[in-house]
Amino acid sequence: MMFREADATAVKLSEYKPYDWLIDTVDLDFQLDPKATRVQAKLVMRPNPKGRRNAPVVLDGDELTLASIKLNGKTLAATDYDVSASSLTIKNPPREKFTLEIETIVNPSANTKLMGLFRSNAIYCTQCEAEGFRRITYFPDRPDVLSVYTVRIEADRDEAPFLLANGNPVEAFGIKGSNRHYAIWHDPHPKPSYLFALVGGKLDFIEEPFTTMSGREVMLRIFVECGKTQLTGFAMDALKRSMRWDEKVFGCEYDLDVFHIVAVSDFNMGAMENKGLNIFNDKYVLASPETATDIDYENIEAIIAHEYFHNWTGDRITCRDWFQLCLKEGLTVFRDQEFSSDERSRPVERIGDVRRLKSFQFAEDAGPLAHPVRPDTYREINNFYTVTVYEKGAEVVRMLKTLLGERGFRKGMNLYFKRHDGDAATVEDFLKCFADANKRDLSQFARWYSQAGTPELAVRGSYDAKAKTCTLDIEQMIPPTPGQSAKQPMVIPLRLGLLDGKGRDIALKDAKGKAVSDNLIVLEKAAQKFVFSGVKEKPAISLNRGFSAPVKLATNFGEDNLRFLAKYDSDPYNRYDAVEQLAMNELVASASGSNKSPEALIEALSNALDNASLDDAFLAQLFSFPDESDIAQKIGGNIDPDAILAARRKIKRDVGVALSDKLAARYQKLTNHRAFSPDAKAAGRRALRNACLDLLAATEGGAEHGRAFKQFEEADNMTDRMAALAVLCQHPIPERETALAAFEQRYRNDPLVLDKWFSVQARIAEADALGRVHKLTKHPAFSMTNPNRMRALIGVFAAGNPSQFNRPDGKGYAFIADTVLGLDSKNPQVAARLLSAFKSWRMLEPSRRALAEKELKRIAETPGLSPDVTDIASRSLA
Ligand SMILES: [Zn+2]
Repeated sequence: MMFREADATAVKLSEYKPYDWLIDTVDLDFQLDPKATRVQAKLVMRPNPKGRRNAPVVLDGDELTLASIKLNGKTLAATDYDVSASSLTIKNPPREKFTLEIETIVNPSANTKLMGLFRSNAIYCTQCEAEGFRRITYFPDRPDVLSVYTVRIEADRDEAPFLLANGNPVEAFGIKGSNRHYAIWHDPHPKPSYLFALVGGKLDFIEEPFTTMSGREVMLRIFVECGKTQLTGFAMDALKRSMRWDEKVFGCEYDLDVFHIVAVSDFNMGAMENKGLNIFNDKYVLASPETATDIDYENIEAIIAHEYFHNWTGDRITCRDWFQLCLKEGLTVFRDQEFSSDERSRPVERIGDVRRLKSFQFAEDAGPLAHPVRPDTYREINNFYTVTVYEKGAEVVRMLKTLLGERGFRKGMNLYFKRHDGDAATVEDFLKCFADANKRDLSQFARWYSQAGTPELAVRGSYDAKAKTCTLDIEQMIPPTPGQSAKQPMVIPLRLGLLDGKGRDIALKDAKGKAVSDNLIVLEKAAQKFVFSGVKEKPAISLNRGFSAPVKLATNFGEDNLRFLAKYDSDPYNRYDAVEQLAMNELVASASGSNKSPEALIEALSNALDNASLDDAFLAQLFSFPDESDIAQKIGGNIDPDAILAARRKIKRDVGVALSDKLAARYQKLTNHRAFSPDAKAAGRRALRNACLDLLAATEGGAEHGRAFKQFEEADNMTDRMAALAVLCQHPIPERETALAAFEQRYRNDPLVLDKWFSVQARIAEADALGRVHKLTKHPAFSMTNPNRMRALIGVFAAGNPSQFNRPDGKGYAFIADTVLGLDSKNPQVAARLLSAFKSWRMLEPSRRALAEKELKRIAETPGLSPDVTDIASRSLA
């Protein structure tokens, strides 16, 4: 068998044991060759005082050919060790320090899983998180084994003029009498194997010096495929801003002489934070106005920052085991969100972050794949790089900051950096730093890490005119999730405001007349009452401001309260949220057959357009209504995706017709003839203008289609061109095919841009969408083995086109199931990710549900599947 068999026994957090051995140093020597790369590993090992005595040495391995093995310089006899498909065991190792030398041979060209050492467009590169290093050499491939690495790489000079690894360069020379050359790298910081990286190939680069806060000189370089350096300027700028920000906000300074980023075109994820040598999916490095949208720019900035911030939260302090993944990911997402908020508009960033959380994480929490921020069991760790671990993990850190305040939070972070630098830490270690630094008991708060599911709050507000008090009665409930039927109350920080009749904030006082500090109440019990005194008139209530807790609210405040908040709330998030709720109420009513006009929503949007104090990016959020899967989540069961699509189209049409004059005027006013700039303000202008375009086109007026086509033809940047194309694609008109053909012609040599062309077609919500996607899989630019292509076409069809993926005849499900089965042997990680598109299948109306279940079962019953796909299929059906 080529694959590790699906492991029947799950890994459990409660069964954690330290590794029996310490590995002080690792010396690796690579002889790079496309089909047979030779890897010599020299490990200096000694017994771990915390491990078992008389334990054998057990090393992980996967798809390796063992060439030789020596202990203290002597070749081991075949009887001294056992080698299996997944491990190498040395039966009776010495009980003192010894040296183990292992030689393996790997085939980078055949590595379509893109884990371990592989080739992408003739560039050698690696991906080791979570368990890829075992595909390079035999090693205890777990995050708590930290070692100092020295790496020698040798290759043909023509094939790989650049040879890079982690740490600092030591030397690089040609080898006399041959076309070979080598480079040696040394990383002084002990690290786990998942942070190892190597790159070799023909590359171009840009470089810029950076002086750290203590005055150290660092050389920053971004390496790309030849001929692409002109697309790296924005990424370099984002990197420098990230480094400065981390010094200023967290006191974190960079710690090597060089910092390298390499962009490659075949990559399973977004990017990887290998110490000193970050490897990126080129999608998140390369940008120009002609090829990248504003969203691309924003993502590049955020991901460059995210991977850089891992240098401290991930690399300097790593995770003890993979259950603690949120320790580095949730925390680092929080840090990159804060960076983006400081660099751009804080309210707009927050709205975007919460929208993503609600769309994807709330959906995950409500379905069969729900799991705690820190899972306590897994079968395949690759399947736990989830929105729950990342996005909800970030929300938990944000709540910690809300509860402790800015200063208290910083004190906790400082202690964490000081106490755990160089450690493989746990969530408990992290929380203890905040508890110790602030003398606070955080044991109940820790439930956010262990209890899955989105808490639901039932809130009853009442006003007593005689006593001049406003009372909130709040109950919390967390729905059952797989493996967790009963839950305990959480600590839920709720920021709130009470507004007087003129929309001004009332100074909050508790029942005893004491000021409510920070406008914050903290729910800790299953049911709790909060009384506010000195309230002279019945107030409007604005609860969970800034989305201070990731919870769902059900209140008795009524629609008038929402209309009032939509007009006056001083908290930008809740003001946005009030409009979103008005839209959602209309969408849900319309999906269940109501035909009334969305008056309240139209009024709120009209007011917003007239309000000169609201900025363009914020307005653009108000005008992009909840998407189809958000509406499905809100309805919660017996879902008919066609009815939801129709409801969304109706609301857009109603709003477009009612506000057409204002929208057209604003569209015209925002038409910009200045040179392109990717900054947040200019991006906001484009976003609002394109939201106007979308709503105007929804009125189905022929002139409006002409407007979109004109914008497509005249655009001088990708944001406007792509937005116009997306609008045209929603309407079965001849201009659509003309525009699609022109786009293909123009960008046929740029695979990253063609991905946008694949995606926009995969989203077309019409009956022939599946046929179109099928046809596009035969397009010369499409490739099943390139993860970006797969996600752009088939991933977007499955996750971004609900009415066609959920076709009533089940053919959408069958197509995705066939794709998953076809891809599994080549790239199980991407296959498993695609399969998670079924995560909300139980919410569907009965006939679609039966069809989805049939396909899930067909997958689950297929023999010889990877652990990745087996795990998602069986959990989806459980
Ligand atoms: Zn990360």
